[in-house]
Amino acid sequence: MSLGRVAFIGAGPGAADLITLRGARLLAQADVVLFDALTDPALRDFAPQARWLDVGKRGFCTSTGQATIDALLVRMAREHRHVVRLKGGDPSVFGRLEEELQALAAAGITSEVVPGVTAAIAAAAATQRPLTRRGQGRSVSLTTAMTAQGDLTAGRHADTEVFYMAGKQLGKLARALLKAGWPSDTPVCVVSRAGWPDCVASDHRIADLAAAAVLHAGRPAVVTVGAGATAVAPVQPPRNAPDAATGARTGRVMPTP
Ligand code: SAH
Repeated sequence: MSLGRVAFIGAGPGAADLITLRGARLLAQADVVLFDALTDPALRDFAPQARWLDVGKRGFCTSTGQATIDALLVRMAREHRHVVRLKGGDPSVFGRLEEELQALAAAGITSEVVPGVTAAIAAAAATQRPLTRRGQGRSVSLTTAMTAQGDLTAGRHADTEVFYMAGKQLGKLARALLKAGWPSDTPVCVVSRAGWPDCVASDHRIADLAAAAVLHAGRPAVVTVGAGATAVAPVQPPRNAPDAATGARTGRVMPTP
């Protein structure tokens, strides 16, 4: 029995060109690709030679159980030389990577992991809101709002906290945030379909977060709370101040996002 090699590849959060070069090169060698629901169909152009198998799961409607995916991955690696497991965003962030690595290791199959752009990072880029800020944003937490049992929880672990998988329960998330000690006027930015051309971002306070539900309904969203949720303030240099780099006098204003 020949054993293939499995590459877990982070597809990025949206548009196909957010995949890494390494990921695209490995896709080009693939015999078979097991892909998730949130990956861009245009990624098929990177591997037209491969057989593409949809093993996607979305929100509460599990279409393919995790055990089935694990078993399929092992079977494919026994039948093919180059197997790609394509995951939305980064494989290491809320991607059930642990189970799939374990299944492969138990079967003696070699694997590698190629990182991707996770949704929190794509949201920060789309809104031009850095997740860390000098002085007030020294820590970032990536948190799933959903427990394995399907309950919603929230804590206060970092200056900037990015919640995944909370889009369907924003009202509940707001209540959990208040309970965890966040002040009700804490800024919150909700970004859905980050990295896609139809990305939508909206600004809220925890007190009125529930209102964002309509705007982002049916779209994958991340909820950024705290320091990283605020827009970068425009800086107006003092009139006649010399430019630090050139010594020239300038009236340049930083672009507002
Ligand atoms: N591995 C993925 C996360 C998978 S969990 C990553 O690294 O991004 C699925 C959750 O990710 C969704 O419920 C949503 O909260 C978030 N998500 C995925 N794609 C997104 C996108 N394009 N924009 C905003 N949030 C997204």
